[in-house]
Amino acid sequence: MKKKQEFKIESLEVKRFYFDGKLEIDCPTCKTKMVRDFSEDYLSYPNFGEEEGLYFYCEDCEKEFEMPGVINATIEVSYDVDKLKEI
Ligand SMILES: [Zn+2]
Repeated sequence: MKKKQEFKIESLEVKRFYFDGKLEIDCPTCKTKMVRDFSEDYLSYPNFGEEEGLYFYCEDCEKEFEMPGVINATIEVSYDVDKLKEI
């Protein structure tokens, strides 16, 4: 019997947490698209489910921005109890 269970992650004791994900917003000054790529720009000791400032940098006008945001994290574990065996 296949089962699936989800676990909500509240925080990670990880200095550099990278993941595949991008946020794109327009620069409020020059309208150039700014990209926050989490596969290159890591989160440091993330607290999930809490509002924190998300950093953006505009390469065109060289301005820095911060936007409030909340990141949630869930781990899903799938397993098959029929294949349980002694090792
Ligand atoms: Zn700009």
